[in-house]
Amino acid sequence: KLPVLELENVSVGYDSPAGMVQAVNDVSLKIYENTIVGLIGESGSGKSTLGNAIIRLLKNNAMLTNGKIKIMGQDVYSLNKKELRKFRWSQMSMVFQSAMNALNPVLTIEAQIVDVFLSHHKKMTLKEAKVKAKELFEIVSIDPTHLNSYPHELSGGMRQRVVIAIAIALDPKLVIMDEPTTALDVVVQRSILDKIKEIQKVKKFAILFISHDFSLVTELASKVAIMYAGRFIEVTDSQSLSHKDKHHPYTKGLINAIPQLTADEVIIEGIPGNPPNLIDLPSGCSFHPRCPYANDRCKTEQPAGSKVGNRYIECHLYDMVGEEVTIHE
Ligand code: ATP
Ligand code: SF4
Ligand code: MG
Repeated sequence: KLPVLELENVSVGYDSPAGMVQAVNDVSLKIYENTIVGLIGESGSGKSTLGNAIIRLLKNNAMLTNGKIKIMGQDVYSLNKKELRKFRWSQMSMVFQSAMNALNPVLTIEAQIVDVFLSHHKKMTLKEAKVKAKELFEIVSIDPTHLNSYPHELSGGMRQRVVIAIAIALDPKLVIMDEPTTALDVVVQRSILDKIKEIQKVKKFAILFISHDFSLVTELASKVAIMYAGRFIEVTDSQSLSHKDKHHPYTKGLINAIPQLTADEVIIEGIPGNPPNLIDLPSGCSFHPRCPYANDRCKTEQPAGSKVGNRYIECHLYDMVGEEVTIHE
């Protein structure tokens, strides 16, 4: 079956006065239709850079330095400008980080949604586009009277629903959601997540859901890619993340960092240390300066990565013999 999204050894770098920032470093992943895949990692690990690279909206000083990004089998970077304009929003769309401020302040919500329809459907009339906009508002549960509002007249939660509505307007196959609820309070966050789940179930598109909230991602996604210093250090099904066994040491740290509400007292164990400088990455495994299991080999040799069933782990502790994973710790 054709994956909706296929990343093949993708690397992205930023040109900076101090040198090349290796923001995304050789990541591979497949996402199939009707699935939600989570992407988690600390701030600065490269999540947004990867999202922007997929939809081909990288900043001016950024470039895809290696690899291929395919959506429905189509290499996104081989499209010309005109093809890309058609492809974006109809095949792939993105809810950007701090998207709430992404709406045009001087246009009504209706004008902005209508514009999406008209720019992609040459034969659609204004009247038809307005009907479509109204339908879309029903899908995201906003009262259609708000169509004539300006962005500043809506609450944060409603603006975020509008942004999601625009992202799904043209029924894309892949929607990238970059921290879509982070700026919202917990109650609004919950209702938007429920809405996302509900729409996804009906429309069956694939979602790449970017967040640094571990418990939120594991709840929403069926599969999770864990990013550290630009690399996918582990890709696993989210069920496996409910227990600490057989995970990458960084993943274990993330699992430990979740407050254990079942215990008598709440214990939060963070991961000591800071993420590395992406201009001058540590030798060997990038995680070695912070890894409690690091040995001499880790300091010199980048772990190759093992694939076991649906899982992928980049760590020297894991040796694969057939389908069996052996852990030396
Ligand atoms: P957050 O959780 O804070 O959103 P992130 O995982 O999305 O973080 P990115 O925004 O992708 O991280 O940034 C990855 C790395 O690229 C960071 O080290 C960041 O400093 C660097 N970076 C981002 N934008 C630029 C830029 N325009 N020029 C140079 N470096 C950049
Ligand atoms: Fe830790 Fe070594 Fe595994 Fe890296 S390769 S995560 S340093 S044990
Ligand atoms: Mg980000």
